[in-house]
Amino acid sequence: MDGEHILFINGNILTMDPDNPRAEAVAVIDGRIHLVGPTNVIRPRGPHRDGRYVDLGGKTVIPGFNDSHCHILSFGLDLGRMDVSADRVKSIADIERLIAERAEKAAPHEWLLGRGYDQNQLQEGRHPTAEELDRASGGRPVVLWHTSGHVLTASTRALQLAGITANTTTPPGSAIERDEHGRPTGVLKESPAMDLIARVLPAPSVEEGSEAILRAMEVMARQGITSASDAATGRGDDIEPELEMYRRAASSGRMRGRITLMPQITYVAPPDSDDVRLPEDFDAGTEPDRLRIGSTKIFSDGALSTRTAAVRQPYAGTDDLGILLWEPEVLAGMIRHAHETGWHIATHALGDRAIETVLDCYQAALEAAPRPDHRHRIEHCMITDEGLARRIKTLGVLPSLQPDIFRLGDGYITALGPERASEVIPMALFDRLGVQVAFNSDRPVIPGDPLQCILDAMERRTPKGVVLGPEHRIGAMEGIRNYTVGGARATHQERDKGRIRPGLLADFAVLDRDPTNASAGDIRATEVVMTVLGGEIVFER
Ligand SMILES: [Zn+2]
Repeated sequence: MDGEHILFINGNILTMDPDNPRAEAVAVIDGRIHLVGPTNVIRPRGPHRDGRYVDLGGKTVIPGFNDSHCHILSFGLDLGRMDVSADRVKSIADIERLIAERAEKAAPHEWLLGRGYDQNQLQEGRHPTAEELDRASGGRPVVLWHTSGHVLTASTRALQLAGITANTTTPPGSAIERDEHGRPTGVLKESPAMDLIARVLPAPSVEEGSEAILRAMEVMARQGITSASDAATGRGDDIEPELEMYRRAASSGRMRGRITLMPQITYVAPPDSDDVRLPEDFDAGTEPDRLRIGSTKIFSDGALSTRTAAVRQPYAGTDDLGILLWEPEVLAGMIRHAHETGWHIATHALGDRAIETVLDCYQAALEAAPRPDHRHRIEHCMITDEGLARRIKTLGVLPSLQPDIFRLGDGYITALGPERASEVIPMALFDRLGVQVAFNSDRPVIPGDPLQCILDAMERRTPKGVVLGPEHRIGAMEGIRNYTVGGARATHQERDKGRIRPGLLADFAVLDRDPTNASAGDIRATEVVMTVLGGEIVFER
């Protein structure tokens, strides 16, 4: 047999393949798995010619993690921005201090950008205001994004540059927070309002973008992630600059992972048009194993921690039902168009009102044009009762989940009250009904280490120590399965990824201990010691 041979031997290989759950050795030829079995069987078969051995020294091997919903470019750009997350700041004064430090080194008109604050975890319990950002920034434009990605707060200069004044009408489906005189406070909620700022932000060049993507994939490789999906590709009027950034990263020879792009629906089946672009109308370059077009992404509501997810019962202590971003008929039209042209669809829906609306749209599209094993996804799918879960099962919909309770859980309790909050991401319900789910990170909304995510699903513990719905906790192996097998199913790639089985891509993560029957404490201590992509070691501790 021609091609490059690599033998991985003496491992404790958890294949996630029910036909052959454990093995010791894997033979790889040309980036794909050729044989899986005991070392003493595989070793004598090769490698021949210039082949290599990698001795795993008894360490545990699992399929590479697949982060089937994250925001790769944003994450990479974020890595270069101010970190105002709860790990770094406890109060608005802390945030002001960080801004002042940045301002000292910045040019007079330079934008100061930060990410990841959570008003629920600030001493003041509220969003920072323009006035506070002004104080620290010396009049520079400042924008800080909320950890959910659904809210930002901007300084007076940034508001001016965006043309946001007391006279600005609030774009539908969003909110511009105002003081008692009607003046904007700096806080903008949801894309239509946030886009007013996004439009005037200095856009990254193709070079900056592709470097950011490479940076993001490098951090992910260190965490055992070998595949990632960009869950909302494109911004502004044109998706092409972003595609070019991804193509350039993919062909650089330096990209440590495989990327699936999920173009936003506005580039695929815009609401006001009958034109639909097919997946092949988007140029993903010439290396389909490295960069491909996957589902189209639709947003249907907001986030829980900002009370913009569309719910059926009002948020605790309010009569607020959140925001549906589209009229149901408009959403149904976009979904029908995309479905009929063969797209795999992934719709963001957190609240039960949004989930119900999306299921109605999927059902109508499927009744008009049945498609077996379509696996249309619901992203986040947080507030789901038995009735909705049964419809998800019947319709063949795949919930794409981030058990991010460790950071945002207390915000869920504030928003929903303790009883409803304990039912978010109802794993016991999905399990009982046999609904296949995928775990992923939504990073940079949350930090995104898969082992942390799995730990979160095992513990369901909020920052204040409340366990949300203990019956929905899961075991370590189930978490790993959702992040590997589940990720491959979420992108229709189970013939390439998700298991260690002959014919599939040789993508693995090597762990320093065996997670079978592991406790939360074991998972907390577990480290990724090696990441293998197509048989090549792309990270080693
Ligand atoms: Zn997302």
